Amino acid sequence: MKIASATKRIRVKGMFSSCVLVLLVVGCAQNLEGKFDSLTIIEGYKNIILMIGDGMGENHIKVTEAYNQKETAITDKAIIKGYMTTASSSSSVTDSAASATAMSTGQKVPNKAIAYKNGTKLTTMSEFAKAYQKGVGIIATETVTGATPAAFSSHNRQRSNTDEIALEQFQSDIDLFIGAGKSYFDQQVGLMSQNQLSYYSDFFTFQDDLDSASISHSNFASRFLAAFDTISTTITTPQSPTLSDIVDVSLNYLSSRYAEEGFFALIEGSHIDKRAHDGDIFGMIEQLNGFDRAVGEAVDWAREHGDTFVMVTADHETGGLKYDGEVKSEINDGMFSSGGHTSVNVPFYLYNNDNLSFISADDVIDNTDVAKLLRAMIRAQK
Ligand SMILES: [Zn+2]
Repeated sequence: MKIASATKRIRVKGMFSSCVLVLLVVGCAQNLEGKFDSLTIIEGYKNIILMIGDGMGENHIKVTEAYNQKETAITDKAIIKGYMTTASSSSSVTDSAASATAMSTGQKVPNKAIAYKNGTKLTTMSEFAKAYQKGVGIIATETVTGATPAAFSSHNRQRSNTDEIALEQFQSDIDLFIGAGKSYFDQQVGLMSQNQLSYYSDFFTFQDDLDSASISHSNFASRFLAAFDTISTTITTPQSPTLSDIVDVSLNYLSSRYAEEGFFALIEGSHIDKRAHDGDIFGMIEQLNGFDRAVGEAVDWAREHGDTFVMVTADHETGGLKYDGEVKSEINDGMFSSGGHTSVNVPFYLYNNDNLSFISADDVIDNTDVAKLLRAMIRAQK
């Protein structure tokens, strides 16, 4: 493990009056889990929401804020901020499959692998949460067979084995899948119904049925997959809801159906990466803003409902985006220095009520630590 020998500290100020709590002093992964297990701040989080901006480096956020001329909800609402390493077992430059696998399973795998290592299926975050009887929702702005959502909900040696990934998702006990890719899932209706998975491609119908299911949840056992033409960044239509719309309906459903047990939701803003690959800075900003509105929605929901932990991070940086304090009128596509992923550390942000405040921002965790932290929270609840 790349950073196993480094000493990492996350200082949480203000939690216990004026003291500075050393939250995280890490020699190895075991110690990290032990630390989180023993701290009261990780108890009492019934619901866990992990939001991943695919390809979202810190400069993507800074450029978006410069363009918007105001802070994003991502940074404005955050209480803890730090940085995260992203290397996979095969390269210092990860792909989404390996990085999402690290966050889902706590293990490094080679690029392209989906929760799968040396012929073995690794336990995903969905499987871990289900072992604790929690509800699980997998939400993305691309198709849910994409690498990031797939690594939280299936296993495969190769991210491009879409049909195998979809079948495993259909056969899982995950409650909700929501994303784009209607034309693909329209072909899978038979397989979905064989696996008691209700299929929707009209958002308003889906929303109504989820609301009814929330109300009558005591004897309602259905699972849902919704696939739309696209996920809009601006306007809600039956064919193209926004990610904020989806977050709203999903959190209400999961919290109603799993009122006692709580839930785990993975929410990905998938297209920040794609626009960055294209070197399209305004397209990237539009996608990041759509993701940011969903973050705002989720954090507000969490603060309203309590018992809910929200983490926002990225799987890797895309495009080697440079930012040197440019103002809105100076922002241009030439600020990207690469057409691919980079090994730059990505930021992470933590949100909950007011019992935590910002840490000093020199603290670095590894992407495998995400799985360890979230699992420690799930275990601590029992
Ligand atoms: Zn990419």
